[in-house]
Amino acid sequence: MGREITISSEDANKPAHSLDRTSADQALRLQRLSMSFRSYLFTFTLVCFCWFQGMIAGSIVFHYGAFVLLLNLCFFALIKTGHNLRYSDPSMTFAQIITSIIPAMYVMYFLDSGHVRSVFLYLGIVPALYGILGLNTRQFIKVAVWYVIVFSTMLSLLLVYRPTAMNLSLEVIQLLALILVMSQMAWIGGYINKLRSKLRKRNIELQSTTKQLEEALEQLGEVARRDELTGLYNRRHLFEVLDQERNRVHRKHETFSVCIADIDFFKQVNDTHGHQVGDQVLRKVAHELNESLRNIDCIGRYGGEEFLIVLPQTALNGAIIKAERFRQHIENLSFSSDGESFQVTLSIGLAEHKLEESVDDTIQRADEALYRAKNSGRNRTVSEQD
Ligand code: GH3
Ligand code: MG
Ligand code: MG
Repeated sequence: MGREITISSEDANKPAHSLDRTSADQALRLQRLSMSFRSYLFTFTLVCFCWFQGMIAGSIVFHYGAFVLLLNLCFFALIKTGHNLRYSDPSMTFAQIITSIIPAMYVMYFLDSGHVRSVFLYLGIVPALYGILGLNTRQFIKVAVWYVIVFSTMLSLLLVYRPTAMNLSLEVIQLLALILVMSQMAWIGGYINKLRSKLRKRNIELQSTTKQLEEALEQLGEVARRDELTGLYNRRHLFEVLDQERNRVHRKHETFSVCIADIDFFKQVNDTHGHQVGDQVLRKVAHELNESLRNIDCIGRYGGEEFLIVLPQTALNGAIIKAERFRQHIENLSFSSDGESFQVTLSIGLAEHKLEESVDDTIQRADEALYRAKNSGRNRTVSEQD
């Protein structure tokens, strides 16, 4: 229990619904796939142009188109069916880059001009650039090596089967340029990737530090609102609550009552049993009063052995009934010290807040009622009307 003493902290930042996030990610992946398909279409137009110019056979154009269509349909189906979510990289960036070079190389093999072939080589490198956004250094190196292997294989096949279609020195220069470009790209891509991971890590650290700070601040605020001995709210917070209550009441035309409870002859408890026992009595009375309140009520330590209870939405008659319940409950408690048992009683003063009066005025009237309770014999509840 211990509603007043426990310091609770709630995690207000609810994570986004994972299903929503997954479908948003999948939509983004489809969008990226359609972007890559459009870039294939551009290359396809170029292939068609080469056919139109008589540089390659129509069957090569057909093979290129069919392969590209099939490839993109496969990726599309994987995303649509959610199969891609089983992979460590659901975006399949690596697979898309690796496969993209194959149709380009196929067309390059059948081209007769080394110059036109180099144009396709440039276009073939473009997909690797997308890797900068998603690949790590190792994957980048694999892409670079793969591109060089595929290009070298294509050149070797050319050399063996179509030596007349190639200009060897030009192709060798292109191979060396490809090695240079791809290794630079792998280096820069890896570097950017490391930067991104560092940023991500720092972001996570920052988020957790911010959360810890917020929690620490929340706890500090809670400590500043509490009375050290009893764990109840202190005077300062009580007045904040009273001000809020007054504002609320004025807006909604409701009412609230204030109850001041003072332990009778408390000095005698200290004198007879010692200050430490006095402290224990204070803690116990505070705890018992706190436990008997509704959630909307608020109790605080108003002075040494005085407690102030704010009873929202409660008129004087209701407050009298509640205060009597508090008083009887404390009266029935039994304390013991050095084998000797004793009781304590409460005198309670009550006042209902009146519209237009200040919080101080209401407290003043409750205090006057308490004074009358003391003067008329103690262990009783007196309201402003008595
Ligand atoms: P009354 O019935 O008129 O209220 O008599 P009383 O003895 O309760 O009132 P009085 O104002 O004469 O004395 C209050 C006592 O409460 C004196 C003070 O030492 C004691 N007191 C105040 N704060 C604490 C505290 O934190 N711990 C302890 N043990 N005693 C406290
Ligand atoms: Mg007292
Ligand atoms: Mg007192």
